[in-house]
Amino acid sequence: MPSYDLLIKNGHVIDAANGIDAVMDLGIAGRVVAGVAKDIPESNGRRIIDASGMYVTPGLIDMHAHCTGFAGAMFPEEMCFPYGVTTMVDCGGSGWRTFDQFNKDVVNKSQVRVFALLNIVGQGMQGDVEQDINDMDPELTAEKIRQRSDVLVGVKVAHFSGTGWESIDRGVEAARLSGTFVLVDQNAKPTRTFADMLDRLRPGDGTTHCFGYGKPMIGNDGKVKEYYIEARKRGIKFDVGHGNNSFSFSMAQPALDQGFPPDTISTDMHRMSLHTSRATMTEVMSKFLAMGMPMAEVVARSTWEAAKWINHTEIGTLTPGASADVTILEYQDRPAGLSDSGPTGYRIMQAGGRLVNQLTIKDGVVRFDYDGLSKDDWSETPSTDLDLP
Ligand SMILES: [Zn+2]
Repeated sequence: MPSYDLLIKNGHVIDAANGIDAVMDLGIAGRVVAGVAKDIPESNGRRIIDASGMYVTPGLIDMHAHCTGFAGAMFPEEMCFPYGVTTMVDCGGSGWRTFDQFNKDVVNKSQVRVFALLNIVGQGMQGDVEQDINDMDPELTAEKIRQRSDVLVGVKVAHFSGTGWESIDRGVEAARLSGTFVLVDQNAKPTRTFADMLDRLRPGDGTTHCFGYGKPMIGNDGKVKEYYIEARKRGIKFDVGHGNNSFSFSMAQPALDQGFPPDTISTDMHRMSLHTSRATMTEVMSKFLAMGMPMAEVVARSTWEAAKWINHTEIGTLTPGASADVTILEYQDRPAGLSDSGPTGYRIMQAGGRLVNQLTIKDGVVRFDYDGLSKDDWSETPSTDLDLP
C-alpha cells in the first residue's frame, strides 16, 4: 500500500523553517505533509509528480493583498492559486464594523486560507471614511481581533491624509490591546516624519510599501538612512507591498546592495496592479531574484518570514504534520522584462528569466496545475457511450 497520496519527486526543496535547500522528495498523505526525504521509492506514492528542475516550496504566503474593501479587490482564488499562493493576508480592507460581512461573503467561501489585518477605521478601507478620526477606535478594534483571532492577525493603518498622529497612535494602541502588531502605510509629512513614525512603532510592528518611489528609505547620498537601520535593529519590520504605485527598482536595488532586504515579499495585489506592474507573487519574487537575492532567501521571505510575523508558524513550512500547502515553481530561463510601478513610469529591469508557478497544492488538494504535472494524458480518457438520442 502506498504511504502517500501524492509523491513529488526530484524537486529542489526549499523550507526555511527546517533549513532545507536541496533536491529531495516530498510525500503528502491526505491533508498533511507526511515525509520529506531523499529518494522516496515511487511505489510509496499513489500519484507521482515529477518536479525535476523545479523548486518545491511551502505554499506561498502573500502578506499584503486585497480581497475586500475597495473597487480593485479580487477574489482570493483568482489572485492566489495561479501564482502559488495558498495563504493571503487581506491588508485592512475591513474594520470592526465591516469584518463580519467580509468574513461571511469572502473568507468563509474561500479555498485560499485568508487572514486579515483589521483597519483601525471601523468602516475599513472605503474611500473617504478612512479620514474619519472619530471612527478610529482602538478598544473596539482590539475587541474584534480578540474575538476573531482565527482570522484576524493584526491591525492596519493606511492612507490617513491628516497632519497628526491619530491613526498611527490608535493603530499601535489597538495592536497593543489585542496582543498583535500594526502594519502602517503612511507617507511622510512635515508634521509626521518617517523617523518619528518608526520611533512610535514597537518591535513586531512594521511598514509596507518599503521600496516605494518617494518613500524616504534611500537618502540623496544613495544610502539607506540610519534611522531605518536603527529601526530594524529594534525589531521594526519592512514589507514590500508592491502594488501599482509602491515599488521602485531605484529604491530596492541600492537597499539590497547595502544589505537591507525586506522582511517579507508581498504583492499588494488588486485589479490595477495585476495588469500594470504585474504584481503577482511569482513576478514580485522574480524581481528580487533579478536584483541578486538568492532563491532560498526569496522563498523564505515569501513563506516562513511571513508565517512568523503573523504568528501562524503552523504554515509556511514543510514540517511533517503541517498542512500540505505546497508550491512548485519553475525558473524559466528566457529573457524577461520585469516592471516596477506607476510613479516611475513602470521601468523595466531586464532579467535572465522569471519564476512561473507550475502547481499549487492547498491542504493536499491540487488547486492549480499549469502544465498538468499531476494529471493523466488525454489519450487515457475512458470511453463513454456516444450513442445518445
Ligand atoms: Zn494595499
